[in-house]
Amino acid sequence: MVKCKVCGKEFESDRQLHAHLKAHKMRVIEYYQSQYPRYDKFDNTIIKFKSKDQYFASDFNTRTNLKKWIKSAPKDEVKEYCENLLIDRKNKKNMPKYFLFSLVGQWALFTRFGFMCWCHFNEVTV
Ligand SMILES: [Zn+2]
Repeated sequence: MVKCKVCGKEFESDRQLHAHLKAHKMRVIEYYQSQYPRYDKFDNTIIKFKSKDQYFASDFNTRTNLKKWIKSAPKDEVKEYCENLLIDRKNKKNMPKYFLFSLVGQWALFTRFGFMCWCHFNEVTV
């Protein structure tokens, strides 16, 4: 069940919810960006919406921002972020590129954290 955050009505699927948004004269993009605002961790701009999964999985709008954030954020924070991302991906086994990605990810574990994040980010945005 998904609930409309505007009026509280419940729906069986995202599709039904998305169709219902017309009643509020809202586009799907507007709904998620206003009810579940997510911001780029580096420059604080709102996360661009392409699909629900992509929206909730993205912490950055561009790879450049991710790279800049890795360079400027405290090392501990970057490390924690990458570790959480790894755990997150493990829980989403149905992701199409998961297998290939996990190979890359495991290999990247032996390299710098920065590179690992970059791989993750690629996987999230394809
Ligand atoms: Zn509603």
